[in-house]
Amino acid sequence: IFSGEATFMKGVVDMAGLPPSDLGEFAFAGRSNVGKSSILNALMNRKGLARTSNTPGRTQEVNFFDIGGSFRLVDLPGYGYARASRTKVDAWTELIFDYLRGRPNLLRVFVLIDSRHGIKPVDEEGMALLDESAVSYQVILTKIDKIKESGVARRVAEVSEALASRPAAHPEVLATSSEKGRGLKEVRGAILGALEG
Ligand code: GDP
Repeated sequence: IFSGEATFMKGVVDMAGLPPSDLGEFAFAGRSNVGKSSILNALMNRKGLARTSNTPGRTQEVNFFDIGGSFRLVDLPGYGYARASRTKVDAWTELIFDYLRGRPNLLRVFVLIDSRHGIKPVDEEGMALLDESAVSYQVILTKIDKIKESGVARRVAEVSEALASRPAAHPEVLATSSEKGRGLKEVRGAILGALEG
């Protein structure tokens, strides 16, 4: 069903703007620059659909993409632009918290982590929010083409261990490279599995 056409539906700034909750949704979250736009484009086979390298400070929107009328991919604003800017983090938290809490058709959140850096404090905060909201989430490591194979295996093991104590985390860590097309099949598989489950 990933062969269905991917189309941009709308960008949303508050709960009132959400599309109807008639289709399963998969949200993507992560620090800015983690490779979120790139993996969304790769999954949707549409190069410019999710803009890459969005400008910090721009209005933070939640972007909805329709995949062949079967389900939606949801691009959440990148978190942690500046750890210094508390207000920005709070704005992120408020909109996302509302969305996570009030969305019955949200099937899974993919938390993107740069494979070079591993879990950062701001990722911990994001995952704590997800645990609190009891929204199931799964970690996707990005940019694995930038590190050695042995490093990927080590990172997967390290992150898996960190997730073991997190109640809403899916135990399987997915390792990907949007650039090289690696691990995308597994992400699609996770999505299809969640849709069927
Ligand atoms: P976003 O801010 O999370 O949406 O991140 P982007 O998708 O815009 O990616 C940030 C930067 O990382 C860009 O320069 C991308 O070209 C680069 N990038 C993203 N994914 C990969 C990847 O899998 N491998 C490599 N080498 N670079 C990547």
